[in-house]
Amino acid sequence: MEPIQEQLLISRALLTATASLAQESSPDEVLKSACDALVASSKHICLAWMYLGNPQNENITPSYSIGRESKYTEDLRLDLSPEAMNGPGRRSLATNQPVLVDVHSDPTFEIWRERAIHFGLQEGLTLPIGNPGKTYRGLIVIFADTPAYFEQVGIESFIAFSHLASVALEQANLKLTLERMANMDHTTGLLNRRAFTEVIQREYAQSKRSGKPFSMLLMDLDRFKLINDNYGHETGDRILRGVSEISRSTLRSCDWIGRWGGEEFLAILPDTDEAAAEAIAERLRESIDQFSIDLNGQKLNATTSIGISSYPQDGETPDFLIRAADAALYEAKKAGRNRVVIAKEKHEIYSIASKINSAIANNRMVPAYQVIVDLKTRQTVAEEALARLIDENGKPIEAMQFISAASELQLTHLIDVEIIKQTMNRCAGNIAAGGERIAHFVNLSGDLLLHQELIRDLFAKAQSVCQSCGIDLGPVKPLVLEITERQLLGDMNAVKAKLAPFLDFGMRLAVDDFGSGYSSFQYLAELPVSFLKIEGSLVKQVKDNRIRKIIGRINDIAKDLGLITVAEFVEDADTANILCDIGIDWAQGYYFGRPALDAH
Ligand code: GH3
Ligand code: MG
Ligand code: MG
Repeated sequence: MEPIQEQLLISRALLTATASLAQESSPDEVLKSACDALVASSKHICLAWMYLGNPQNENITPSYSIGRESKYTEDLRLDLSPEAMNGPGRRSLATNQPVLVDVHSDPTFEIWRERAIHFGLQEGLTLPIGNPGKTYRGLIVIFADTPAYFEQVGIESFIAFSHLASVALEQANLKLTLERMANMDHTTGLLNRRAFTEVIQREYAQSKRSGKPFSMLLMDLDRFKLINDNYGHETGDRILRGVSEISRSTLRSCDWIGRWGGEEFLAILPDTDEAAAEAIAERLRESIDQFSIDLNGQKLNATTSIGISSYPQDGETPDFLIRAADAALYEAKKAGRNRVVIAKEKHEIYSIASKINSAIANNRMVPAYQVIVDLKTRQTVAEEALARLIDENGKPIEAMQFISAASELQLTHLIDVEIIKQTMNRCAGNIAAGGERIAHFVNLSGDLLLHQELIRDLFAKAQSVCQSCGIDLGPVKPLVLEITERQLLGDMNAVKAKLAPFLDFGMRLAVDDFGSGYSSFQYLAELPVSFLKIEGSLVKQVKDNRIRKIIGRINDIAKDLGLITVAEFVEDADTANILCDIGIDWAQGYYFGRPALDAH
């Protein structure tokens, strides 16, 4: 061996190796790649092994070992015996100094000597890695196959390398800590939403494999805004911390809890079905109810509502399960708060929702058309498009059976779009074929108004359909948009702005179900309405004198405002005649025709 030559080789190899150390992301990887680099730096270095952990540990054993003679480290153990404590490895960790070992003569190496000689090890060098005083430290031990190897090439390069490895180790440690912090919610110390999403995925995969159920509890503090508004954010935060403490101690050690949103917590209960989850949730609700914080001698307490869903019965995917828990939570709020609701009761809704989704995807959401006649002439003047869901067996299902589920799960806009588009096509087809010019009534839900992109889409469709028709209809277009007064549409100006393109284009507006709700007159006052549709249950009772008067007055107002009145649910000749006498313009109902699907 030529020492100068060897020295050069080693320094060069270690220099290259330090660059890659900095790129390793975990402390373990840093030390492993340092061992690899040391062994690769010279053929005389026949072994490198590492330890990473608390230097006070009862047993220090190699977690990684590499090199020609790596078999030497099998069963190697630095325990707490006086010999091992005084050995080079432990000493090096204790003093944070490298230790040089002559395998043949070092008295502190006695217990390992025979085995080391058997493997042809001649000289060893221990390198402590990491900052002294830390409980998480590294140790690298290398052996050479040549006597006095390290004296000849000098240990300076190795020491420099160990310093750089220490820096890389600290960096990797810091990164780990930062990662841990990024997963934590700072107010409560719980996992944050991002980290908790991982927990859900893991638990889901686990349950899917094992076939065992798991449950989710979605908790939301009741009227928390009031606490913040009255006592300040600081106090709100104290309650949040208290609630997370209580939750942690009430749940079992196998359960998970994370902060899902502002005042929302999500818990995952592994291996727990809905019944068991309900008992746990009830206990949790109770202990939060009992809990209070002290505010200058005043007791302040918070309550929570909890929605529960379980895999697999309430949903096949984490997404569905969360939605199911959310819907159950919503029920708990509606039912008065400070209570637990399980998703099971809502199964019906979910099965309807999935039917709606699949019907829309497969063009099985179709309009049925019901004629509207002029009460004086009894001629058809319009028709209303009503949604029908054709089930897998080709059987039509009436809107009544799926609309309330649709509106609860906010799917109505999808249905509206389907029906409106198909009605536009029908209207254009009719006109192009030289058919009667009738008005086409379609329903437009408040839900649809929330989807600006769909509104734009529909408007573009209307323009292109109208153009394709090729006939100039003048300023008034056949489509009439019905908005129901059952729904609270909110800010009238915003509604008006959203509808403006359609109205400017020449479509007209009808108020549906007039007489069933509370804001009817506001609709009439603030929206440019052309039609007033009178609610069916009123119409059905028109033979009653009082009702007849009410309908008469409604009709008077409508006439004063220049509106066309339409009566729904007309089921017999007498009703039709009375309505005609009152002066109602148009009517629809079984007497004139049931809703019918398009023939093709
Ligand atoms: P409900 O019973 O319907 O859930 O009523 P609520 O007042 O709890 O519900 P809402 O969603 O209207 O209000 C939630 C409040 O939670 C509003 C927000 O100021 C508060 N909040 C969200 N995050 C934090 C937080 O980190 N600290 C504090 N102090 N308050 C928060
Ligand atoms: Mg909330
Ligand atoms: Mg709340």
